[in-house]
Amino acid sequence: MRIGIIGCGQLARMLALAGLPLGLKFSFVADTGSDTDLSCVEGLGLIAPWQAGDNLADLYDALGQPDAFTVEKEQVDLNLLHGLTAFCRFAPSVNSVAHCKSRIEEKQLLAQLQIPSAPFCYGIDLNQSAKELGLPMVLKSLHDGYDGKNQWLVKDDRQLTQLAASPPQTDYLAEQWVAFDREVSLIGVRSTTGDTQLYPLTENVHHQGILVRSIAPAQGITPLMQQTAEDYMRAIFDALPYVGVLAMELFVVGDKLLVNELAPRVHNSGHWTQLGAMTCQFENHLRAIAGLPLGATQAQGATAMLNLLGTAAAPREALTTNASLHWYNKTPQPQRKVGHININACDHAQLQQQIAQVEARLSR
Ligand code: ATP
Ligand code: MG
Ligand code: MG
Repeated sequence: MRIGIIGCGQLARMLALAGLPLGLKFSFVADTGSDTDLSCVEGLGLIAPWQAGDNLADLYDALGQPDAFTVEKEQVDLNLLHGLTAFCRFAPSVNSVAHCKSRIEEKQLLAQLQIPSAPFCYGIDLNQSAKELGLPMVLKSLHDGYDGKNQWLVKDDRQLTQLAASPPQTDYLAEQWVAFDREVSLIGVRSTTGDTQLYPLTENVHHQGILVRSIAPAQGITPLMQQTAEDYMRAIFDALPYVGVLAMELFVVGDKLLVNELAPRVHNSGHWTQLGAMTCQFENHLRAIAGLPLGATQAQGATAMLNLLGTAAAPREALTTNASLHWYNKTPQPQRKVGHININACDHAQLQQQIAQVEARLSR
């Protein structure tokens, strides 16, 4: 069975690395506009370039005629996805990717399912938005946002006046700034038969909009909060309907959960599952789209994931007995995600010690 992946980044790489032991073959579509660095997936399968207007039958042949397609990112040309469904299955559905690609469609889906998210305004004047939401607020472009890019924080009246005079030259929504206690995410997977498996909530630490660290299971999470997050995800699974891994980022405010955003794919905050769960998110995504039974998602002990941002070379010397390194083989650039280290321990106290060891080695 051959799986085609739209995109050539680290998520495509780790999907392939998880799928090769299952006997799956892989092909990668390189969007000539955005997938400029193919080194992540070189040697892992067939790679074919694509740009708008290309003949899709030729593309499908060049990819070795996959049995199913999936995506490693939501910022994709929906016409390409639609076109490929003429040749074989695509998971999650085009509709699912479309909803997560656009921040406003995502917000509308959440509202329709009565899933709480941060209050927002769309299509109204900035001063009016500020009146309704209060300051600080954040403007987020509807498309092409990742790692906090294409966002504008409006802290005070001075910044509001500045932005109102020259608003972003892109379609955006304004969102209330949430004074959250912490950020968590839920990674879940739904099979073609509707079976679902959910991982425990993961705590995520961001720096300047970029994920730097995840800890799973998140601490201080009541069974009710886990249940509530799972209910939200199941509602989304059923509404779309969905096949594959879905990631849901949430803000924790007191004992309340607000959904920040969705990603219709494997997710950086799920990388810990490679070391800390019976079945990792990558394998479960493949099992789902290949029509196989899903694997168990319980956490084994406590696990941390440390992102490597802009690191020049694979820091193998940081490895300890409890750590594993995933190097993406990308060209390093400042703040670019080039790898991660997973660290596993029997409990959170031991995990903190293990993290300190790895961090000390990283900073040598
Ligand atoms: P990703 O790389 O996760 O796709 P993104 O560019 O889509 O990121 P968001 O997840 O919307 O961006 O925002 C990035 C981070 O900025 C969040 O994880 C959070 O730390 C902070 N943030 C975003 N929106 C808000 C908000 N309304 N209130 C408080 N913090 C926010
Ligand atoms: Mg995002
Ligand atoms: Mg995010």
